[in-house]
Amino acid sequence: MSIIHILDEPTINQIAAGEVVERPSAVVKELIENAMDAGATAITAELKDGGLSFIRITDNGAGIPKEDIPLAFLRHATSKIRSAEDLLSITSLGFRGEALSSISAVAQVELITKTPSSLNGYRYLIEGGEEKSLEEIGCPGGTTIIVRNLFYNTPARRKFLKSATTEAGYVSDLMERLMISHPNISFKFILNNQVKLQSSGNNSSRDILYHIYGRDISKELISLEYQSENISISGYIGKPVINRGNRNFENYFINGRYIKSNVITKAIEEAYKPFLMQHKYPFTSIYFEINPSLIDVNVHPQKLEIRLKNSEEVYQTTFHVIRDALSNKEMIPKVKLTA
Ligand code: ADP
Ligand code: MG
Repeated sequence: MSIIHILDEPTINQIAAGEVVERPSAVVKELIENAMDAGATAITAELKDGGLSFIRITDNGAGIPKEDIPLAFLRHATSKIRSAEDLLSITSLGFRGEALSSISAVAQVELITKTPSSLNGYRYLIEGGEEKSLEEIGCPGGTTIIVRNLFYNTPARRKFLKSATTEAGYVSDLMERLMISHPNISFKFILNNQVKLQSSGNNSSRDILYHIYGRDISKELISLEYQSENISISGYIGKPVINRGNRNFENYFINGRYIKSNVITKAIEEAYKPFLMQHKYPFTSIYFEINPSLIDVNVHPQKLEIRLKNSEEVYQTTFHVIRDALSNKEMIPKVKLTA
């Protein structure tokens, strides 16, 4: 008798959900990335209870056509790539077709969506991977997704979550990074019926940095501007005076994604080395645009890391652009170095 069997779709999705959506902030990230991929210019994230009981993401993007609605919730169903070859030149944030299937496997999900060409919108309910209903409704163009009672059917996962306050803090950090990463999108973050963060979408990253980090930091920034065939660099770095005891302020974005890359972190820290004391880290908010064919984004379940094919070029360029910016401003620290 055979002891091996293939798992059913809901079980497979629950397992996948463990990797893709480990907590409310990951759900918010996936849904907002979908909204960005749909070309939204205004995105609202509304949470209650740290996102444990209620997450609602509303966008004014392209919407989902009726016939695609159930498909969007199937595993490996995506409109963004067609073949493995397309992975070599990804310009969208999503591409695996796993977020909606994973989220709907472990929560109660309501989707409201309308495309510009359709007269009506549609409302779709799916719970624990099981389709409940699809009906016609009147609604504005774009998409709203409501995620209720995350991990309601996986108590072990739910127990793993932190308090509502801590989970809300993770979402707040994420919203800040998303706002900075896309200054051309107007974001709103509402927590327990209160607006916590808002950006205008006026395309000024400096305005957003001011809004998030305040005057003390935003008045001490140096702007970066660099362009070569494969890499362009823009954004801001802090003068050495606004150093910190941890890396929380060392942010950068590659092709619109908030990413961690050892290569870039090392280049930044080496460039700052003569200007900072040991165990001090700089403030950075840098936008990299790198030729998509030189990047592999398919290396991390939550796409928080990437592989750079031209890592030496990225390292050298980053190092020199930052070192030059710091040197030009003669940013020799005015602190007294004590032994
Ligand atoms: P992926 O983003 O990797 O394609 P998802 O599971 O996140 O996979 O989404 C599946 C599909 O559903 C997407 O490819 C897209 O076509 C559609 N979709 C999801 N969210 C939205 C949205 N907010 N607006 C328009 N289409 C969406
Ligand atoms: Mg997605």
